[in-house]
Amino acid sequence: MFLALGLAALLMTAIVGVRYLLVSGGFAWATQVRHPGLYATQRRQIVREIGWSLASAAIYGVPAGIVAWGWRTHGWTQVYTDLHARPLWWWPLSILIFLLAHDCWFYWTHRWMHRPRAFRLAHAVHHASRPPTAWAAMSFHPIEALTGAVVIPALVFLVPIHVSALGVVLAVMTLMGVTNHMGWEMFPRSLVHGPAGRWLITASHHERHHRDYRCNYGLYFRLWDRLCGTDAGLGRFAHDAGPHPARPARDGIADRRGLTGADRSGGGGA
Ligand SMILES: [Zn+2]
Ligand SMILES: [Zn+2]
Repeated sequence: MFLALGLAALLMTAIVGVRYLLVSGGFAWATQVRHPGLYATQRRQIVREIGWSLASAAIYGVPAGIVAWGWRTHGWTQVYTDLHARPLWWWPLSILIFLLAHDCWFYWTHRWMHRPRAFRLAHAVHHASRPPTAWAAMSFHPIEALTGAVVIPALVFLVPIHVSALGVVLAVMTLMGVTNHMGWEMFPRSLVHGPAGRWLITASHHERHHRDYRCNYGLYFRLWDRLCGTDAGLGRFAHDAGPHPARPARDGIADRRGLTGADRSGGGGA
C-alpha cells in the first residue's frame, strides 16, 4: 500500500512539474513572439523562478497524488465520473463554487502573508520576481506552496464535482497562474476594461499587486478586494508606455518588507 501511495505521489509530482514546464514554457515562448526581449534582463530571476516552481510541484503533487490514489482505490472524495449522477446544471455551478472557494482562501491567506513577519517567512520568495515572468506561476516558498496545495484536495471532499469539471478548474488554475505573471495582457481590452473586467482578475490586475504589494490580493475575482477596500484597480505594463520594454529595476528594501510608498501613505491592506 505504501509503495502504491508513494508512486501516486511521485507520479502526480511529475505531472504537476511537467504541466508547469509546458504551460510556462509555452507562454514564455508566446511572450518572446509578442514582446521580443521582454525577459532579456531577467535570466537569473527566471532560473530562480523555475527552481522554486519545481520544488512547489512536489508540494502540490504529494497531497494531490494521495487523494487521487484514495479516490481510485477507496472511493474517497466526492469526485464522480457519471455525468448524469447529478443534474447537468451542477456541472457549471460546481466549477464556479470551486473557483469562488479557492479565490476566498487565496485572498485571506495571501493577505495574511503580507503581514511583515509572514511576508519575510513565506511570501518574499514570490515577490522576489520583480516584475514576474511566465515562469513565476509556482515560484513560492514551501510554506506558501503548502497553503495553495491543500485547497483542491480539501474541496474535493466537500463539494461534489464531475471529473471533467475538476479538469476545467485545474486548467483555469494553471492558465491564470501563468498568464497573470507573464508581464503583458493577453485578454482583449474590451474584456479587461469592460464590465467583466471589473470582476475578473487578469494580468493587468495582478501586475499591480506585484508593483504595489498591499492591494489586489485576489486570485480569480475582484470580489474580496472590492468588499475589503483593497482593490487598487488595474496596473499598466512598462511596454505599453513606449516601444521598448524597459522593465523597472528592483527597489531594494521595500520588496523584502512587503511595503511600498502607497502602503505607508494608507494604501490599504492587512
Ligand atoms: Zn503573483
Ligand atoms: Zn503578494
